[in-house]
Amino acid sequence: MELKPGLSAFITGGASGIGKALALAFAKRGIFVTVVDTSEVHGKEVSFLVEKENRKFHSDLKLPLSLFIRCDVTNTRDVAAAFEKHLQTYGGLDICINSAGIATPIPFYKDKTDGEVSWRKTVRINLIAVIDCTRLAIQAMRHAGKPGVILNLGSASGLYPMYDDPIYSATKGAVILFTRSLVPYKRQGIRVNVLCPEFVETELASKVNSKFIELSGGFLPMEMVVNGAFELITDETKAGKCLWITKRRGMEYWPTPMEERKYLINPSTYKRSFSYTKPNLEIPESFEKIVVHTLTHNFRNATKIVRTQLSFAIKPQHVLVKILYAGVNASDVNFSSGRYYRGNDKETASRLPFDAGFEAVGLIAAVGDSVKDLRIGTPVALMTFGGYAEFLMVPSKHILPVARPDPEVVAMLTSGLTASIALEKAAQMESGKIVLVTAAAGGTGQFAVQLAKLAGNKVVATCGGEEKAALLKSLGVDRVIDYKSENIKAVLKKEFPRGVDIIYESVGGEMFDVCLNALAVYGRLIVIGMISKYQGEHGWKPSNYTGLCEKILGKSQTVAGFFLVQYANLWQQHLDRLYDLFSSGKLKVSVDPKQFLGIGSVVEAVEYLHSGKSVGKVVVCIDPTFNQQQAKL
Ligand code: NAP
Repeated sequence: MELKPGLSAFITGGASGIGKALALAFAKRGIFVTVVDTSEVHGKEVSFLVEKENRKFHSDLKLPLSLFIRCDVTNTRDVAAAFEKHLQTYGGLDICINSAGIATPIPFYKDKTDGEVSWRKTVRINLIAVIDCTRLAIQAMRHAGKPGVILNLGSASGLYPMYDDPIYSATKGAVILFTRSLVPYKRQGIRVNVLCPEFVETELASKVNSKFIELSGGFLPMEMVVNGAFELITDETKAGKCLWITKRRGMEYWPTPMEERKYLINPSTYKRSFSYTKPNLEIPESFEKIVVHTLTHNFRNATKIVRTQLSFAIKPQHVLVKILYAGVNASDVNFSSGRYYRGNDKETASRLPFDAGFEAVGLIAAVGDSVKDLRIGTPVALMTFGGYAEFLMVPSKHILPVARPDPEVVAMLTSGLTASIALEKAAQMESGKIVLVTAAAGGTGQFAVQLAKLAGNKVVATCGGEEKAALLKSLGVDRVIDYKSENIKAVLKKEFPRGVDIIYESVGGEMFDVCLNALAVYGRLIVIGMISKYQGEHGWKPSNYTGLCEKILGKSQTVAGFFLVQYANLWQQHLDRLYDLFSSGKLKVSVDPKQFLGIGSVVEAVEYLHSGKSVGKVVVCIDPTFNQQQAKL
């Protein structure tokens, strides 16, 4: 639905808070608004402001450009009359916002009453009235015979418990499931969605413990809530959707597609998400994999392909995965040189030969007897060692279920997760800052720039080459610095004299020095890696940063390290979020177009990444027959 002049909206609780903000935002688009509230003074004031704004669009119209109707939403007759009045005045109903809500007047654990003036009242206003208004809005929209959108105000405390006010939490949780169950109305042109903001600075939130609000990252700007509401109203694909908005994480749909897959049993939905031709899942007697036989950062010299017998005895808690795509990482060469194993060279050498590769996606080919939650054919991702193989047996607890076994999903693993978790945890990224990303057109850089943009930051990105610069511009980067045509240091000094607040740095060496000098007071520089050091002639020598302590002390800066392996507890959650952003079109995933087919192409792929020519994520198709099947579709 396009928000345009001449539409009409009905808003309960429109005299204050989110209801008021939406009424004023609609007025700015020339939309007629009926404000329904118990507070006459505030309600009339909002209606007056809406009318004033609306005059700019409808200077000649005789009908009232806004109505205020004093009405208690728990009184079904009065509410029905209010809807009737709206229909008579505007000839239809396009948008209904059910925003009226209260916190429980007496804390549940102190309540000695029968609940009539406390928790029962909360249930009547927050839940029963929402159901009633939804019912009446559906009737009104059907009566007018035009499409409509109903937006119920849930709350983040309907998604997880709110210990201070369990009744509030319960009513909001119920509103969410009520709304999510109304998807079938879409067939009649009526979309019902629910918006779940965390804390917004309204009268309602003034009753919440301020320490808790601080811990959640502070109040959400009202603008974010309005943007979220507008998305649910304008996007025709959104029906029965629940949008969760937090200061910490921005806008996210709940549940994620991954969570949905755990309970959806509708066969047509199931089929849609697996609409690829499944490869042959027969288990062969042997398979090929890449092993490291000599410790060196030269991946070609370090590795070889070996053929291994496949054990048919799947351990009870294990699954066998047929690998379709494996991801190539800058650190493959660190792994082959033994850097990922602690201990002295002799101890590391005693582990040889060991399996190479960090990440892959594929399909489950066999399950152990004790594995009950995974089935043959399920698409999965793995982030365990041994990804450069045709098959891999792993404990089922290490399996990450995914929607599709695609190259884009491989990119979301090490590369995407590093950006997502590092920016949240190490960089503590908020909005309104300047974020600099180096090697930004690479595997992980492409995610970092987009996540920083989505969080509302200004993004500066470095890369080497025109093709990469074009990709970064298409991803929304505000200032791309192609170091092949511009001097990074000079650009940063001239255009960002105050410095940069967050730096996602993965090149190391001279680039690290340039970045540190460009860091603002209180800035945070996150050491993601140092790819420029990985392949030196004599291997990687530790750096010596003279004066580092003095520098960061003088400007209250932080230089923080980040290593994905230490955040395994957050992988599934962040992967779901990335996939959600990707499937809703908010996140693009760039996979380098150069094709690497079969285990035999892995070495070439690793060398290609280190040549500096790759754009986006480098992926190897381990089973080329699967790739051909896909191409034919
Ligand atoms: P990538 O960014 O796709 O790597 C390729 C890009 O790096 C190249 O296109 C080039 O970009 C730059 N590059 C390559 N060789 C270089 C060299 N010798 N000197 C300067 N720049 C060079 O690779 P990735 O796998 O996503 O890894 C990127 C970085 O993130 C690496 O440092 C890696 O170790 C790190 N990483 C860290 C973690 C963690 O947990 N900390 C996890 C994943 C990755 P431009 O020339 O366009 O700059």
